[in-house]
Amino acid sequence: MAAHPRVVRTVPALRRALAPLRKAGIALVPTMGALHAGHLALVRLARRRARRVVVSIFVNPTQFAPQEDFGSYPRTFKADLAALAIEKVDLVWTPSAAVMYPEGFATRLDPGGAAKAGLEDKFRPHFFGGVATVVAKLLLQCRPDIALFGQKDYQQLCVVTQLARDLDLPVKIIGAPTVREKDGLALSSRNVYLSMQERAAAPTLYRVLKASARRIGKNEAIERVLADGRGDIARAGFALDYLEARHAQTLEPVASRQDGPIRLLVAARIGKTRLIDNVAV
Ligand code: AMP
Repeated sequence: MAAHPRVVRTVPALRRALAPLRKAGIALVPTMGALHAGHLALVRLARRRARRVVVSIFVNPTQFAPQEDFGSYPRTFKADLAALAIEKVDLVWTPSAAVMYPEGFATRLDPGGAAKAGLEDKFRPHFFGGVATVVAKLLLQCRPDIALFGQKDYQQLCVVTQLARDLDLPVKIIGAPTVREKDGLALSSRNVYLSMQERAAAPTLYRVLKASARRIGKNEAIERVLADGRGDIARAGFALDYLEARHAQTLEPVASRQDGPIRLLVAARIGKTRLIDNVAV
């Protein structure tokens, strides 16, 4: 059995533990735990890009709305640690909420740009403020040379990239491709919520994204393609939040392929589970 990585839970302990690793170069992979092969792909990419790898595990309460799944979000710390041991992670940073947000904490970032694109922000208005604040804290706590985020959460990746640029954080943000099940469903810690029937319907999202990307790539009218896709998703039993074509960097609406590189993004609910996904055109 691989030795477990060192686990630290306070900011002073983190600083002490990271000091001797800095010279080698540090990669940070922020997560909320319940690790799956998508997270581990980020860790492996981090390993290729830096000599030292830090994984943070923190289920951030401030990015969940009261009616959302903070309480029931899967927590599998022991299994996470075993998986990270196999990946030879150097350090696991897992602060409590009281360490991250001590008594009297009163600062919250209000990201603009991609964070106000009318996608996730429209359905989870509290979300990116919480994400930006905790990611800024994680980056300042760990001061990594690079930090890795999944394209699975594409708008989040755009927001974090902008945050690092706007705040002059000395870190390179790297986006990593989405890891999928064989049938196309993007891996997500929330997939465990799906019933067997919902799981069977879930790959529809990726199928629609791929088909839409192919058609838009062949210059079919974007609105027409999206209307078809929205119908397919509804017929598979989803309640659609959005299926949109946006500029891949700014996330601004696009009318045609001439408006720049396009990303298709989807969010939809099935039963109690909300799924998101995206692809490039
Ligand atoms: P989470 O624990 O869900 O907050 O995710 C932590 C990081 O893993 C984020 O940067 C996610 O975008 C990334 N991630 C989640 N699912 C996947 C996936 N299927 N493929 C690649 N990266 C992912």
